[in-house]
Amino acid sequence: MNSTKSHRPDVFVIGGGIGGLSAALALTIQGLRVRLYEQAPEFGEVGAGLQLAPNCTRILHDYGLLDEAVQLGVLPEHMIMKDALGATELTRVDLKDMERRYGFPYLVIHRSDLHGVLLRGCERAGVELVTGARCVAYENIEGGARVTFADGNSDEAEVVLAADGLHSIARTLLVDDEPVNSAYVAYRGAVPFEQVRANEVHEKDVVLYVGPHCHFVQYPLRGGRMFNQVAVFQSPKALAGDDDWGTPDELDHAFEGTCQEIQKGLPLMWRDRWWRMFDREPLMKWVTGRIALLGDAAHPPLQYMAQGAVMAIEDGWVLAQHAGAQGAKRSEGGSGIDWEVALDAYEAVRPEHCRRVVLTARSWGALWHHVGVQREQRNAVMRSRDTYDYAFMDWVYGPTALKPDQEPEMFTAIPLDSVEV
Ligand SMILES: Cc1cc2nc3c(=O)[nH]c(=O)nc-3n(C[C@H](O)[C@H](O)[C@H](O)COP(=O)(O)OP(=O)(O)OC[C@H]3O[C@@H](n4cnc5c(N)ncnc54)[C@H](O)[C@@H]3O)c2cc1C
Repeated sequence: MNSTKSHRPDVFVIGGGIGGLSAALALTIQGLRVRLYEQAPEFGEVGAGLQLAPNCTRILHDYGLLDEAVQLGVLPEHMIMKDALGATELTRVDLKDMERRYGFPYLVIHRSDLHGVLLRGCERAGVELVTGARCVAYENIEGGARVTFADGNSDEAEVVLAADGLHSIARTLLVDDEPVNSAYVAYRGAVPFEQVRANEVHEKDVVLYVGPHCHFVQYPLRGGRMFNQVAVFQSPKALAGDDDWGTPDELDHAFEGTCQEIQKGLPLMWRDRWWRMFDREPLMKWVTGRIALLGDAAHPPLQYMAQGAVMAIEDGWVLAQHAGAQGAKRSEGGSGIDWEVALDAYEAVRPEHCRRVVLTARSWGALWHHVGVQREQRNAVMRSRDTYDYAFMDWVYGPTALKPDQEPEMFTAIPLDSVEV
């Protein structure tokens, strides 16, 4: 294990992804002593893009990290949805106007840049960062929780936050479930902008092409010097039950018949790795004793709402607000935080919000991937949307709820079969 320094911590965070780092930072800002354990020998993230909606940039601003993140990323001008077959525009969002509405911008950023911003924030705040530490067991003990590592060592703190991702070990303490296979797979590719200049791409927008059992996303990164693409499609081999699914031959086949814009983008996808898309059924209990789930460990979504990392960041902020509201009264006995109160408040508000997002992400995926008449009905609904109508995003992009009664009403989708085509 490699550690930056040592003092007796109040909280352990297990997992140094975006969720774990941001939670560690949030709690440290509230005066708590936090030690974060990451299994990998070094901190890092995959080199592709990430979209961060205003409900996330609001929190980055709260941490004093938004300016740095904006400098490293891009504030796109529009989000545009097009039909993947004919490339006709279906609807668009004016992201400058959206910033005025929600008070904070829509940011696109390289994952490793956001991860670096959070890591540096943790270092500055004094989070103790430990790498090469794979947690293999969690256990509640009198007044706290214990974690045990692959090397046989164990450690104890008042609270343990498990931010250990889709295959969370801590989650097995709460539920005996498995990731749900969507049979969709994502290919990514972030390349120097020069490589797409001749493709006449939108340089300043997020563009989403929705197609039959597939979609394709493009947006700029790193001040426009890089360009990010994501190709997502349903794998016939996954549907047939094959183990070897999502392979590049399926990528080529999935986008046959799509528009020129996509055809030009496809050769730039990384073909040596791909991401199979899993989520889990919503879980309403995230806390057992002094062990709590956070991020994908609690609520892995399909990525269609671009809210997975955002929800993880919100989780840490909410818990830290509830812990911080009590104010740490440090003594020999510990932080002085009443963790039952803080964890109850966390569990009262976050699982319901994330349940809504996880289920809505599934329905957005279904909407994007329609074929035949439903595709035409979807296109008609999208075309009829006013550019400045925010009804479908108000319940997500507004301020993060700290209490259940602050959680806004959800948007009610227009039934497609009510549309004549
Ligand atoms: C194609 C794609 C596009 C996406 N786009 C977006 C987007 O635009 N916007 C958005 O908000 N979200 C997006 N997401 C979702 C987002 O990437 C995830 O929801 C988010 O990264 C989850 O972060 P996390 O920290 O909870 O989990 P992870 O990123 O999985 O991090 C878990 C960490 O825990 C460590 N770990 C695991 N087990 C242990 C252990 N036993 N001991 C110690 N450490 C351990 C891991 O090494 C890892 O560092 C996308 C996802 C995909 C696949």
